[in-house]
Amino acid sequence: MTTSRRVGDSLWSPLAHMPSVLGNRTVIVHGEGAYVTTQDGARLLDATSGLWHANVGHGRAEIADAAARQMKTLETYQSFGFFTNDVALSLADRLASLAPIDEPKVILTSGGSDSVEVAVKLARMHWQLAGRTDKTFVLSRADSYHGLHAFGSSLTGPDFYRDGYGPGTLVPDTARFSSTDAHDIARVIGEIGGNRIAAIITEPVIGSGGIIGPSDGYFEHLEQAARKHDILVIADEVVTGFGRTGSWFATERFGLHPDMTIIAKGVTSGYAPLGGVIISPRVWERFYSGSAAPIYRHGVTYSGHATSCAIAHANLDILEAESLISRAANLEVILVRELDRLRNRDDIREIRSGHGFLAGVAPIDDIPADEVARFARAHGVILRVLRENVIQISPPLIVNEQELTTIVDVIEGALQAHRS
Ligand code: PLP
Repeated sequence: MTTSRRVGDSLWSPLAHMPSVLGNRTVIVHGEGAYVTTQDGARLLDATSGLWHANVGHGRAEIADAAARQMKTLETYQSFGFFTNDVALSLADRLASLAPIDEPKVILTSGGSDSVEVAVKLARMHWQLAGRTDKTFVLSRADSYHGLHAFGSSLTGPDFYRDGYGPGTLVPDTARFSSTDAHDIARVIGEIGGNRIAAIITEPVIGSGGIIGPSDGYFEHLEQAARKHDILVIADEVVTGFGRTGSWFATERFGLHPDMTIIAKGVTSGYAPLGGVIISPRVWERFYSGSAAPIYRHGVTYSGHATSCAIAHANLDILEAESLISRAANLEVILVRELDRLRNRDDIREIRSGHGFLAGVAPIDDIPADEVARFARAHGVILRVLRENVIQISPPLIVNEQELTTIVDVIEGALQAHRS
């Protein structure tokens, strides 16, 4: 096959229809605050924080300096067995002190999907070690997103993430229940049998699955069912952690009491890959005492990567010094108010807001969200299209009120343009 090659054609992008993508990429070359600049010189307001990660905004010199300092001192040293590095230790302590779980331990990883694997494998091992060997099932919500490693692909809600790998799911013993109807949890538990379920994993607010906050009483139901059947609860806070819902962790806001919390993205605001799992005593205790203590045989070369950890420290310093967590809570109110301008339009199907500084705007089906995103991009704003014709809004926590107005103006402009 003869093909003419352009610069960058070798890059096979994630989740992309490559024939459409080639030659049509938006190539970002610079970032500063809430804005990024393309290779063609267009300055765009990043209304999604990239993939939900840029909590403190782009181009923060303090973080770059911290990374350089750390690399000049020690780029990293591995954390397997008896070895580790000083920055991994101090970051784990800092995360433990911020976490909404009492007396936790922290496993550091390389990102969100990696952390999902860590938490879910650990949940299964927990019950094997407890002698409850039938407890192998893990349940998730029908619209959830838990990354795309093998476990994540099997747990993530929409079927298309599981299709194409041959019969069955990549990892067996997974099942899903309704994201909104709390009574469905009992139905699925009834079908499988509570004695066979190791864990339920849930995002406090579903992000990539369409911005779905918990309906009234949803988490109470979920926790009651988990307690009744001895099922571990895993909160996936990859999107919601580190300020997105106006608290350090969304479980605090939504009254969820997880046995494990998964983090990534906002812990470094994307300045380096890093994730983690914050683990309650119920799960970690047996691994920490006695000569016969079991070993959790999971880890990657970059578990506790020193430069990533130094970057996380610098990022947390900014979140604290600039009070960005409470700022996000204030920004949420402004975003809700701005979006209310769209609420009664006949070309809007639904506005999903009020569960943090993130929102979904769903035009009616006749107006493809892709068209709105293209219009916005041409008018200087990056939006992202999620399933079911929903547009994602999740700006960096440093945007100002005027920038939120601009985001909503551009969506309004796209809807008007569609009419004319
Ligand atoms: N969990 C949630 C809720 C996510 O939104 C994501 C990524 O968007 C992941 C897990 C996977 O994280 P990563 O892409 O860092 O592997």
